[in-house]
Amino acid sequence: MRTFPIFISFDGRPPLVVGGGPLAAIKTRLLLKRAERVDVAADTLESELSKFVDEGRVVQQPPHPGVDQIRGRPLVLSATEHDGEDERIAEMARALGVPVNVPDRPPLCTAALPAIVDRGDVTVAIGTSAAAPVLAQRLRARLEHELHPRLGDLASLAGEFRDRVAEALPEGPARRLLWERVFDGPAASAMLHGDEESARKLIDLEIERGALAEKHEPPKGRVLLVGAGPGDPELLTMKAIRALKAADVVFYDKLAGAQVLELARREAELISVGKAKGAHSVPQAEINALLVARAKAGQTVVRLKGGDPFIFGRGGEELDALRAAAIPVEVIPGVTAGAAAAASLQIPLTHRDVSHTVTFLSGHEAGGKAPSFEHLDLRALASGNNTLVVYMGVTTGAVIARRLLDAGFREALPVIAVENASRANERRVATTISVLASDPGSLDLSSPAVLIFGEVAGLPAAGVVATILAQEEVVRAYA
Ligand code: SAH
Repeated sequence: MRTFPIFISFDGRPPLVVGGGPLAAIKTRLLLKRAERVDVAADTLESELSKFVDEGRVVQQPPHPGVDQIRGRPLVLSATEHDGEDERIAEMARALGVPVNVPDRPPLCTAALPAIVDRGDVTVAIGTSAAAPVLAQRLRARLEHELHPRLGDLASLAGEFRDRVAEALPEGPARRLLWERVFDGPAASAMLHGDEESARKLIDLEIERGALAEKHEPPKGRVLLVGAGPGDPELLTMKAIRALKAADVVFYDKLAGAQVLELARREAELISVGKAKGAHSVPQAEINALLVARAKAGQTVVRLKGGDPFIFGRGGEELDALRAAAIPVEVIPGVTAGAAAAASLQIPLTHRDVSHTVTFLSGHEAGGKAPSFEHLDLRALASGNNTLVVYMGVTTGAVIARRLLDAGFREALPVIAVENASRANERRVATTISVLASDPGSLDLSSPAVLIFGEVAGLPAAGVVATILAQEEVVRAYA
């Protein structure tokens, strides 16, 4: 059963529980958390249900309800503990379009009851589409710990101020900023500490401050150049997540990763501006202009880039353009693909005994050619123990390997390629520089991938799926 979460109001329409035993009592107790009144259809009621009747919260109805008792209900819960009767109720409700739940019998249900974390006006409902109720309970326990007991009071207080805030500030960034200040600032702390009076005064102050700023200062746009890391959302920084949650608009590259984009503020506009190498993408000058224009319009603009924005990400050019236009900028670093690949292989890029430097290289020059590396002293790199990490080198790897061999790197130098580092489809291939130079197709690589050249690539690496070695130079094989 795949479900969509929704909160329904019971106002003036009591839900119906069918059955009067212990299971019905548990479910009635749950419904009474929000319903003023619950109707219970049963012959006899167990003691807790009778108590609810005495308190006027439950009204007993005749057992075996028919169509007229079910029509118009916001929810029917059948807990008779008699399979045939539960099926009859479920069928009737379904035919009438009334949401129905039968505990532990997903096929009969059109509605699922979530695990609930209850903080008054703040309700967290957890569903697993009936696949793993125990998991839902575990998540609930975690959230119970995390959510402050007075969170609901804070929400109710905010609710009281809603209209006043709406009058003081137009909808948009200014109003959102005000609420962010309230929820992240001293007003919320005061309320959570139980000091409602101070909390009210502090919200009043925020409203005054917001209204003043709105009158005298034009909305301030800004751009955040954010490193999205290699794809695994767990490798995002907390600052990156905060930036995504604050964004009015996100300009992203293909490398930014779908799971990362999921974290953007729900109302944020998501605009793709970049493709992986080779495919057409929005020209850089146009991206720069878009960033400037949106920030000038007062928006919080997130420029989300794969890996780290300042490693082969053209972040520098965007920064220049933004500075020239006097737009406030913040740069949030990300985990670069080379670092993610090394972590996943469990090989260090530098190692006291094996390699003392690491160089990040681009495998492409402007125009898509293999690089000449004229600016590099390859001979010097070959003579010491250095690690080279090549980005954008999938199609040019063989040429690069040949240039390195010409510069004096040893033929059997280990190379490891990591494709889609940190993603579900990550793949690793180990080889040597001479195999790569002579038979690049053997690696069967596709983009995005990084190539790590150096003695560190010969250290015991984790999870290498294929080791491709020429017959005459079997250097090592990984377990
Ligand atoms: N700024 C990025 C690099 C952008 S250049 C960073 O810091 O990682 C694009 C290149 O990055 C790709 O061609 C590939 O070499 C590398 N890359 C990006 N994401 C990758 C990933 N998940 N796995 C392997 N390589 C990746």
